[in-house]
Amino acid sequence: MKTLLVAESRQGKLLNASYELIAFADTFGADKVMILVGSEDNLPKFDGRLYLADAGTFGEYNPDAHKKLILDVAAKEAPDMVVFCHSSYGWDLAPRVAFALQAAQVSEVAGIHDGNLVVPVCNAKLRRQVRTTSARTVVTLQAGAFGIGTEPVGLPEVQMLTADAAGNIVFEGYEPAEIGGVDLGKAEVIVSAGRGIGKPEHIAMIADLAKALGGEYGASRPVVDAEWAEHHRQVGTTGQTVAPKLYIACGISGAVQHLAGMKKSEFIVAVNTDKDAPIGDEADVLVVADLKQFVPLLTERIQAL
Ligand SMILES: Cc1cc2nc3c(=O)[nH]c(=O)nc-3n(C[C@H](O)[C@H](O)[C@H](O)COP(=O)(O)OP(=O)(O)OC[C@H]3O[C@@H](n4cnc5c(N)ncnc54)[C@H](O)[C@@H]3O)c2cc1C
Repeated sequence: MKTLLVAESRQGKLLNASYELIAFADTFGADKVMILVGSEDNLPKFDGRLYLADAGTFGEYNPDAHKKLILDVAAKEAPDMVVFCHSSYGWDLAPRVAFALQAAQVSEVAGIHDGNLVVPVCNAKLRRQVRTTSARTVVTLQAGAFGIGTEPVGLPEVQMLTADAAGNIVFEGYEPAEIGGVDLGKAEVIVSAGRGIGKPEHIAMIADLAKALGGEYGASRPVVDAEWAEHHRQVGTTGQTVAPKLYIACGISGAVQHLAGMKKSEFIVAVNTDKDAPIGDEADVLVVADLKQFVPLLTERIQAL
């Protein structure tokens, strides 16, 4: 099995998620070659062949041009699988490449089970297992699902790509999203509310605990979707990525999209009524309790110190 890994860079910087592609290929011992539209100054640490196209020439975002570059490398390397991150870049490019290669495409792969690709469905409440029957497969990987593995090492053997690859889209630049209210990335303590809080009134007890600890409160996506908390408080793949000293997850099950946004926290406490909730695998301490009882008591104790 040979994989072509499509690494990503943004604003001249290699994205760490590129290493998840390597971790994915390593789970089934595949051969790897990599392609990157990026910069010579910011190469992935990788023992293998890297096809590099200069982002200055080909544009950081130019699906037509990038597709052509990937297809040129695919023609040369004949990979069985082309692997993208499930990012705005990957989910835009992957179907274009799959169509051109007449390959099966599986989006947002979160795992491998018995050789099948595992994909979350129904807001990650179920997992679908699929396998492809075409000669080639194009996949996108869910952020955080495969991790970065061991500390990346190695020096790639670089082959510069010089194809004539114009496109119909001109990338004009980025417009940073406004971070309204709080920047969770700067908080040393975050107490987050999950669906387990049950109703919007209970956000106040999460906010109180965060305040008592001198921190900020965050939320999982269902809490934000229900408009119980503002979007800038969402933690996870479609929210903020945080790494505070202390992260307290209250009524949060530990879906991979949430974990991707907080698992680098120094110390994680989870409060959950379910002792088998997946967050328990990531937490340093799992408190099996009803948050409606536990959180106000803890706040009271901290305030009394
Ligand atoms: C493309 C995509 C992107 C996504 N991005 C994000 C993202 O950025 N961030 C994010 O969070 N999610 C994201 N999700 C959603 C994610 O898959 C999960 O659905 C979500 O994280 C679940 O939120 P939750 O843990 O709050 O709720 P649930 O999974 O419903 O978990 C609730 C938990 O509360 C516990 N509980 C219930 N009552 C109590 C109580 N009284 N006391 C204590 N515990 C209690 C339950 O045991 C359970 O473990 C995304 C999904 C998709 C498909």
